[in-house]
This record gives sequence, structure tokens and C-alpha cells, in this order.
Amino acid sequence: MNAATGGRLSVVAVPIGNLEDITLRALRSLREAEIIACEDTRRTSQLLELLGLPRPTLVAVHDHNEDRTAARVLEWVQAGRRVVLVSDAGTPAISDPGYPVVKAVAEAGLAVVPIPGPCAAIAALCASGLATDRFRFVGFPPARRDARRAWLETFAGAPDTLVFYVPPHDLETFLEEAAAVLGSERPAVIARELTKMYETFERGTLGHLAKTPGVVRGEVVVLVGGAAPEGAPDDGAVESAARAVLAEGFTGARAAKELVRRTGVDRDTAYRAILSARHGASPEAGEPSDD
Ligand code: SAM
Repeated sequence: MNAATGGRLSVVAVPIGNLEDITLRALRSLREAEIIACEDTRRTSQLLELLGLPRPTLVAVHDHNEDRTAARVLEWVQAGRRVVLVSDAGTPAISDPGYPVVKAVAEAGLAVVPIPGPCAAIAALCASGLATDRFRFVGFPPARRDARRAWLETFAGAPDTLVFYVPPHDLETFLEEAAAVLGSERPAVIARELTKMYETFERGTLGHLAKTPGVVRGEVVVLVGGAAPEGAPDDGAVESAARAVLAEGFTGARAAKELVRRTGVDRDTAYRAILSARHGASPEAGEPSDD
């Protein structure tokens, strides 16, 4: 909060379909807001009405006026006003307007308060069944085909689960291209209509999903499992990963298993690397034990 004036910018997540996903903190922030900076004033008015909340001053923030609005929001927060930022659905500034507004207030050293809640990427990821320990949110693909392929290529070797927002009418083309560039055998998930009546998760390989478009239309998040480690990682990388695993408290067989997971080396190599990291000595020092 701006200690002198009480001004702040609250970044408030709103439902992505199911109205019950509004949080208690979000309700309070919206109720107490003096100004709401929103993507579409009509949509936000409807939301406030559905939630039974009063309608304060609403100001539209969109791609074409974001810098101007950022300056105005900054002035309001400096003057001690309680400003809330929302988008039409989900978390503001995540593939939605808001970043310049947040940046301006944060860089001025004033309070930016997140009020977390729905976000399609996280909702899709947590229920996808794909690895969640490392993921990369990459948002919407470029609209042009050649730019899209080049963009996809930049993720082809990434070991992280990839999370895409894909416009529904581009889904089939996107899946075909993703299968071609990332690999048709990669595990993938299409999460549709999250939190809504016809929510579905389709799971399979990218190749399979590209050939069997689902029947349900609507908004989608596409998730693709990370690339398998290619070839043998270099020795230095394995050694430092082994040291990190031990430093994090893993011991014995668990340490070796964790090293396999992180680096993709085979079990024997992992055992040797753990031993050598533990003793700073040769592998002959003995088998890792679960001490
Ligand atoms: N800021 C939002 C968030 O936090 O998720 C994202 C807004 S972005 C303009 C809209 C995209 O998010 C859609 O094209 C779709 O990829 C995804 N999305 C939003 N709501 C969704 C839902 N209910 N089910 C599946 N995907 C959704």
C-alpha cells in the first residue's frame, strides 16, 4: 500500500466460466474498489451485477490504450485511490491486457497486490496428468504459419511441459503443426471449456489428437509433454546435478533416482555420479545405500 495515501493497485482474478470460482478476497477487493480498470466495461458491469456488487468507475484497458491508461492508473494510486485491475476472464496480464499498468505502478514503488484465483493455464496443467514440476507457459501462437512454425521450433528441445492458449478455430492446424515440429509421439492434452458444463480433457499423443478432433467446441488450452533428454548430457552437468541432489537432502537410492529424473542418464551412471559427488572419490567407494 502507498503508506502516505493508502493507494494501491489490486490485480484481481475472476472466473473463467464458473461464477463460483470467485474468491472471498476478490469479492472484497471489487466491493471496495474506487476505480476498476478492465478489459471491457460491459463484461465487467455484467460480472459485478451477477455478483451483486456496486458498480464504481470503470475504465477500459486494451491493447491500444494501455500506456495511456497505465499513466492514469499510476496517478490514481499516487493520489491514494483503490484501483482494481481485472480482465474479462481469469488472471489479468496473463495473455490479457494489464502488464504496462502493473509495471508502471510497481516501478513507481507503489503497492501492487495480487488477488489470485482462476487461470486457464494453471487449471489445465494441474489436472492434465502431465509433469507439473517444470512447465513453460507460452500463450498464444503467432497467427502466421511460418512464424508459428519457427516459434514452435524454439520449444522443440525443452524438457518442460508446454502450455499453449489456442484459438478454437485454429486448433486442428495447430495440432498438426505441433505434431510435425515437436513430434507426433509426444503426450498431449486438450483441456476444453474449463470449469464449465462441458469441460473435457482429451489425452493422447499429439499425432493422435491431431487426427481426432473432439466434438465439443469452445475455449481450449493445449498442453504438450516435455522433450525427452537427447543423448547423454555432458559429465559436468551430471556432476553438478548430483551435488545439487545431495545438497537438497536426497540420499542413497533416492538420490540416484532423482538424478535419473533430472538428467535422463541411466541408473548406473546416476549411481556412480552420486557416489563420486558424495565422496569426491572414485565409484569403487561402494554402492549408495539408503542412509
Ligand atoms: N487471462 C486468462 C487466464 O488467466 O487464463 C486468459 C485469457 S486469454 C485472452 C483466453 C484464452 O485462455 C483462451 O483462448 C483459452 O486458450 C484460454 N481459456 C480461457 N478460459 C478458458 C476455459 N474456460 N477453458 C479452456 N481454456 C480457456
